[in-house]
Amino acid sequence: MKIKAAVVHEAKGPFVIEDVELEEPRANEILVRMVSTGLCHTDLTARMGFLPMPLPAVLGHEGAGIVEKVGAQVTKVKPGDHIAASFMSCGTCTMCTKGRPSWCADFKKLNFGGRRPDGSTTIKKDGKTIYGSFFGQSSFATYSLVTERNVVKVPTDVPLEILSPLGCGIQTGAGGVINTLKVYPGSAIAIFGMGSVGLSAVMAAVVCGCTKIIGIDVVESRLNLAKEFGATHTINSGKADVVEEIRKLTGGGIEFALECTGIPKVLRQAVDSLMLGGTCGLIGAAPMGVEASLDMQTLLDARTVRGVIEGDCIPDLFIPQLIELYKQGKFPFDRLIKFYPFDQINEAAKDSEKGVTMKPVLKF
Ligand SMILES: [Zn+2]
Ligand SMILES: [Zn+2]
Repeated sequence: MKIKAAVVHEAKGPFVIEDVELEEPRANEILVRMVSTGLCHTDLTARMGFLPMPLPAVLGHEGAGIVEKVGAQVTKVKPGDHIAASFMSCGTCTMCTKGRPSWCADFKKLNFGGRRPDGSTTIKKDGKTIYGSFFGQSSFATYSLVTERNVVKVPTDVPLEILSPLGCGIQTGAGGVINTLKVYPGSAIAIFGMGSVGLSAVMAAVVCGCTKIIGIDVVESRLNLAKEFGATHTINSGKADVVEEIRKLTGGGIEFALECTGIPKVLRQAVDSLMLGGTCGLIGAAPMGVEASLDMQTLLDARTVRGVIEGDCIPDLFIPQLIELYKQGKFPFDRLIKFYPFDQINEAAKDSEKGVTMKPVLKF
């Protein structure tokens, strides 16, 4: 079928909206009419050519829409259902079997391989291949093919257009706090980087009953936003010694830290600010090959550094939980969103890179 998609033709090139041909859904696939899609940092990383995703490609991995058609084997959803799409996983490797789909052995191939699991591709233009299946969806398009592995049925009493970012950025920040660090009522957490992921983590820390939530950034306006979302303290790391300030605020060190910037120096600060036995979750993605230095004595004192992928969540369970919290007014993630029409995707990307928009969401 003919669809409109934002195609990236070469590394560092712009998104070009054009007509392309999408295959009909196969027996295990679901055709979704996209209603909105979030634009995430990983889309921009892939556009730069920093991921193994081949080009030309249709990116986008935070799609929300309405099921249009399903293949013969699909039972999870039916035409008319509202869905949010998340990351892909194989469902059969050791970690998928253990209920850890974001640790799937084939994560890279299935999410940035540009192809279906069997190696075929879904999109063509004038007979030439355009790579798709980005995170099993390629949602920068009016229609998208997903599978039961990465589709989440969502309730119809919530505006569908706000739900798209739950599939990656928001679940990553919130899941890092709820699923990975497992903070508890009365505990203290320091969150480094107040972008949409870090602010989602702040909201989750409020939900969990953390009584000290320290938001850290170098931009004053983001620190003010952190306070609005429930940070009890903020530190401008461009002006103050963060480790020192956290030790002062906590009487020696913090139990939980979450690194959301991917900057080696910030990871070091996050680990150094931990109390004995404390844990630092690492969400921020540095380019391949970047190394960070840590004091071995600091780690020896029972401290943990733990990588977090997609909030360590099972999207089928976690996204509905976040929606329920939203409905109760406890997780106001929609306040991070700024909507753009689909054809302003390049403006949305620019605003995201400049940091003026927390969470760009494209509407179709
Ligand atoms: Zn797997
Ligand atoms: Zn993402």
